[in-house]
Amino acid sequence: MPAFPVAVLAAALIAAPPSWTAAQAPYRIHGNAWQVGSAGLSAILVTSDAGHVLIDVPLAANVERVEANVRALGFRVEDIRMILNTHAHFDHAGGIAALARRSGAQVRSSTASARALRSGGDDPDDPQHGSADRYAPVAVASTFGDGEVVRVGTLALTAHLTPGHTPGSTSWSWRSCERSRCLDLVYADSLTAISDDGYLYSDPAHPQRVADFRRGLAMIAKLPCDILVTPHPEASGLDERIERRDAGEADALVDRSACRRYAREAGERLDQRLAREHAAPHP
Ligand SMILES: [Zn+2]
Repeated sequence: MPAFPVAVLAAALIAAPPSWTAAQAPYRIHGNAWQVGSAGLSAILVTSDAGHVLIDVPLAANVERVEANVRALGFRVEDIRMILNTHAHFDHAGGIAALARRSGAQVRSSTASARALRSGGDDPDDPQHGSADRYAPVAVASTFGDGEVVRVGTLALTAHLTPGHTPGSTSWSWRSCERSRCLDLVYADSLTAISDDGYLYSDPAHPQRVADFRRGLAMIAKLPCDILVTPHPEASGLDERIERRDAGEADALVDRSACRRYAREAGERLDQRLAREHAAPHP
């Protein structure tokens, strides 16, 4: 395990808003799906008697916080058998290497994310390459393709490739039951078209970029989706919905139009970005 460069970690912490490392009590989303992240960054735990799946381990600085949240819910970190990811930026993958080592969990990712994870966030195809912070390289055990179902015991989570924010961006869907009530959960990746200077989504040398982005948005829009959760909670109004639920509105998390709206708004922002690129081809 290579030592994590302290200078890089410090840079990440300076760039990170305070909420990203602020402790937050873990909570149940629905059934066997739990939020175990910090106040500003999601880490989603899906549990079973035969082991658990954890999607995203935000900043390296959050690893112990995530572990404490898992334990506070009564689960063992050693029972996390698989770690998955939405996208391979430091604020969602920075702690994966450490948590995989400490739990013994296997890491699986999309093929494009595997390149980024194995290099510790140094992926030349990443729109934010050059400005996004690096992190400890991750040993990815195996990769999956679009629509593949990832299984741990009785758990079955479907991977949806939704490239755009990063080439390997992956959104996840599964069904969680609470007593007899089963709901479709979607942990949809970030859909923002943000890049370092010099990157063009409309680059004629990469005509698939926009087409793939739009295909992912269309996929998210048509997923069965009772509860939408996002890596940055504010992108789906998660905190506000949790507040309403805590105040007694039992179904405050449920919004069957949320995935469609999330995809539509991302499509509008992508259109605006492309218009800016066409107006000034060298951002
Ligand atoms: Zn990102």
